[in-house]
Amino acid sequence: MTTLDEKIEPIYKAVLDRNPGEVEFHQAVREVLESLGPVLVKHPEFAHYKLIERICEPERQIIFRVPWVDTHGKVQINRGFRVEFNSALGPYKGGLRFHPSVYLGIIKFLGFEQVFKNSLTGMPIGGGKGGSDFDPKGKTDGDIMRFCQSFMSELYRHIGEHTDVPAGDIGVGGREIGFMFGQYKRITNRWEAGVLTGKGLNWGGSLVRTEATGYGAAYFVDEMLKVRKDSFDGKTCVVSGSGNVAIYTIEKINQLGGKVVACSDSAGYIYDEKGIDLELVQQIKEIERRRINVYTEKHKHAKYVAGGNIWEIPCQVAMPSATQNEINGKDAAMLVKNGCIAVGEGANMPTTPEGVKVFLDAGIAYGPGKAANAGGVATSALEMQQNACRDSWDFAYTEDRLHKIMQNIHKDCYETAEEYGAPGNYVIGANIAGFIKVSRAMLAMGVV
Ligand code: GLU
Repeated sequence: MTTLDEKIEPIYKAVLDRNPGEVEFHQAVREVLESLGPVLVKHPEFAHYKLIERICEPERQIIFRVPWVDTHGKVQINRGFRVEFNSALGPYKGGLRFHPSVYLGIIKFLGFEQVFKNSLTGMPIGGGKGGSDFDPKGKTDGDIMRFCQSFMSELYRHIGEHTDVPAGDIGVGGREIGFMFGQYKRITNRWEAGVLTGKGLNWGGSLVRTEATGYGAAYFVDEMLKVRKDSFDGKTCVVSGSGNVAIYTIEKINQLGGKVVACSDSAGYIYDEKGIDLELVQQIKEIERRRINVYTEKHKHAKYVAGGNIWEIPCQVAMPSATQNEINGKDAAMLVKNGCIAVGEGANMPTTPEGVKVFLDAGIAYGPGKAANAGGVATSALEMQQNACRDSWDFAYTEDRLHKIMQNIHKDCYETAEEYGAPGNYVIGANIAGFIKVSRAMLAMGVV
């Protein structure tokens, strides 16, 4: 681990003391704080006005009971969260995650990351995150609907187009956003498009939002490769996960000339040396909602490795798109040893601090999540723009906007890293560029 600047060390200590047991939150904060020492030298006013301390403390944290009745008539109780982290740049914006691993520490790490990510997009959005420990796996549509309705029956009083605008994350896609929008509309008697993003295309959603996180991540890697006078063309790629982010990362890599040979779910990975059959993955995951192992029923030549480690497959480009801490130090070392030259994070914080160190020491192109996966939330902001003027843009125009946003994020991170004496280090570039934008806005608004 890199040591912290002496001015920053006590700030980090206070974060540990004030948020006991929230290990993922500690990890996310430490990773940003490690980059900020030189910023306080250039900007002593940030230290004077305690910008770092303020940014580490969420503006508001909401925890609530979510009771619902399942298909068998049994009462179930889950816990709901919404952490409204920072609203200096715009209304709180960030997804909802439904997964049994969710607790306050996960939501706070995600909310914290979101503040910097959203700042990097250049769009007028603050940062927040929410979710529940509800497990959607194996639930009926009816269960999902009743849960979403109960969840929204509390959440509705905290959100709104100018206040807080949730969207999807792990376990929350178009179906769940639909159920939640319906309940919000019913309770408030308002058809308020701007309250949620990731909506269906015929009721206020934006083209390209579904594809945006994956497309954006591939665009970001493409930019990193271009700096190195390289491209996706002919590259062997591994994309972990098989959800929304993974699927559209694979699609864009294919369009850019790369070949994805593996993807996964939490139970194991598929290796297909002919290249992953994306249509089949979409059929399995998006339509049938089944596990990825069934891929081999149709493609007998492909290999399914139950409980396998996808990072043992040699590749030149790795795009972790499943969940936090899925690449540890050993995995990172294995990737580098096997010839990996670029890593683009589609998931949030998928690489442990040890893994990040391996990538940076090896000098490979490493795009951290808060920069590389910002295309999803950026396109959510485009959805909000369309909603605000009751318009809808076509696919090509919207994708072009996304592409330009990703190019700008890359440029911003790249130039900031150079300015601060760390050329090619996108971790430092993303953390500093994201932090400065939020800090300037907070400074202008006084001590609030
Ligand atoms: N959950 C996504 C993220 O991690 C998207 C959030 C949004 O669109 O608001 O950025």
